[in-house]
Amino acid sequence: MFDLAELYQQLILDHNRSPRNRRRPEHPQRCAEGYNPLCGDRVTVYLSVGDDRITDVAFEGSGCAISTAAASLMTEAVKGKTVQEAKALFKRFQSMVTSGGPAMGEPGDRSLGKLDAFAGVRHFPARVKCATLAWHTLNAAIDDKTNLVTTE
Ligand code: ZN
Repeated sequence: MFDLAELYQQLILDHNRSPRNRRRPEHPQRCAEGYNPLCGDRVTVYLSVGDDRITDVAFEGSGCAISTAAASLMTEAVKGKTVQEAKALFKRFQSMVTSGGPAMGEPGDRSLGKLDAFAGVRHFPARVKCATLAWHTLNAAIDDKTNLVTTE
């Protein structure tokens, strides 16, 4: 049985305590808001894209430790990436937290670096929405969709 304590890895606790890129940029090109009614997590993602590359990404919001850490690690993971790379990373992250995917080192290794800290989330289906909220919201910001994103 997967232990709940294992879900809250050091990296997740650290990013919850001191989230990276939690700020409101002065002139973000795009932003989107996300809401996870199941847990009450709220996140706003601010995005600037130049030459098809994410030049700045930041967030504001309040929610559980998983959602805050996920938003923080998401901003670190996609900053500097192209829009296409960020979307591909979102798909891989989503697949990891829902189905797990191949283990590290195996053929088809799908290691996502620091984002692997969320691999345990798949054992807690209600938490998957906390972990993916910031990513869904990022996706909406990339597509310039201004409607509220909800996980329901
Ligand atoms: Zn949550």
